[in-house]
Amino acid sequence: MQYTPDSLWFEMLETLGETARNDIYLCQAIPRTLNDEAFIIAVPSDYTQDEIENRFLSDINNVLAKRISSDCTLEISVDPSLAVVPEFEQTEPNPEDNTPQTTGLNPNYIFDNFVVGRSNRICHATAYAASQDLGGEYNPLFIYGGVGLGKTHLLHAIGNCVQEADPKRKVLYVTSETFMNEYIDSIMNRTSSQGFRSKYRTTDLLLIDDIQFLQRKEGTQEEFFNTFNELYKRSNQIVMTSDRSPDMLENLEERLSSRFEWGMVAEIDKPNYELRLSILRQKCEDQGFSNIPSEVLNYIAEIVTANIRQLEGTLVTLKARASLLDEELTIDLARSVLNDTPTTITGGSRKKSVTPEVIQELVATHFQLNNGDLTSAKRTKVLVYPRQIAMYLCREHTQLSLTDIAEVFNRQNHRTITYACEQIEKLLEEDETKKIIQHLTAELA
Ligand code: ADP
Ligand code: MG
Repeated sequence: MQYTPDSLWFEMLETLGETARNDIYLCQAIPRTLNDEAFIIAVPSDYTQDEIENRFLSDINNVLAKRISSDCTLEISVDPSLAVVPEFEQTEPNPEDNTPQTTGLNPNYIFDNFVVGRSNRICHATAYAASQDLGGEYNPLFIYGGVGLGKTHLLHAIGNCVQEADPKRKVLYVTSETFMNEYIDSIMNRTSSQGFRSKYRTTDLLLIDDIQFLQRKEGTQEEFFNTFNELYKRSNQIVMTSDRSPDMLENLEERLSSRFEWGMVAEIDKPNYELRLSILRQKCEDQGFSNIPSEVLNYIAEIVTANIRQLEGTLVTLKARASLLDEELTIDLARSVLNDTPTTITGGSRKKSVTPEVIQELVATHFQLNNGDLTSAKRTKVLVYPRQIAMYLCREHTQLSLTDIAEVFNRQNHRTITYACEQIEKLLEEDETKKIIQHLTAELA
């Protein structure tokens, strides 16, 4: 294959993997020249050159040997005109600045339409309290929990509530991915660096979603650390969400994750039956679905247990299916649609597919555990064994990859799953575990 410097660099980053693709120093390099002896890239500073050489040189040279020729090596030239990262500038708010702000807020996510139950009561209460007392007791506020449980909704609700009370307050909602992308843009383009810092460091309320994304993004972590300190120093409010607790954030600098615990850390859990039903009722009201029989809502609340997003999705799907068929949404229709999806074809017969949620529910019931125990970070003995059983069953009975399974269990690393499976395989030689697995497998069939 004929490479241009650009195409080779692109492929290089792909080959080196995620860490390289997100590396703040590699991101600043510009591919310049390619021939059989050398691949030349330009970087803005000696420091960037050192960083790349120290951490990536041998990997890059290995790729060059394979793709170009065994004599081809990386050369890095320093070109200061590429980018200048200004030293920290004072970013006092400019009182003359009347430009309308973009808050990133979704007006549909408010406290009024957030249904409260046992699993989200504390999160809701602290979020509301933070919105009433910016920079107070709950600063920073860290909300964590699994997908689709309402973290993003609460984050927007805080922002909307603050804006409504005082439109002059500077509120900013971003995902941590957006934060990173804007940071990288600001490094690449010297004119916007000041803008980036003043945007983030002068908000009264910074809402930053899915902070787990910053794991392994060293450069962005550093910038976020500085932003955090600057806001905190001025008693400006910071609210963050994550799919795991601060101590489970791996590859995040200790000094950063420990700061997340300074204010309040609140967990949002899976909804129980009562909350699922109340949410369904509220969604029917919001959407104007007035004639859905309550036995249909009860049925949905019973079988859709994983999260609230799925609950909403199921309701909308059923409603759409009924209107497509021009039928009333009856319990029979709901049963037939929901038993029908998701399905897999196994050995020619249609079989209800086994999802990780089904497995988790089954295992949790068998061992009499609470919602969320299997996916929690707790490592007590009573949880470890059932969790390993559940992980093993996921590997055996779903199509998911080990990485997917790790994600379902809120684990960072797929090796956790491999380890769990090995443990269970060993224990399968004993009668007790063998019986449990046989029993659970029969339940899944
Ligand atoms: P997360 O950010 O935790 O993945 P979201 O906040 O995106 O979850 O919530 C998923 C969907 O469920 C959204 O449409 C949200 O409005 C809805 N939702 C979540 N929790 C509640 C709740 N307690 N009351 C009403 N709707 C909720
Ligand atoms: Mg979210």
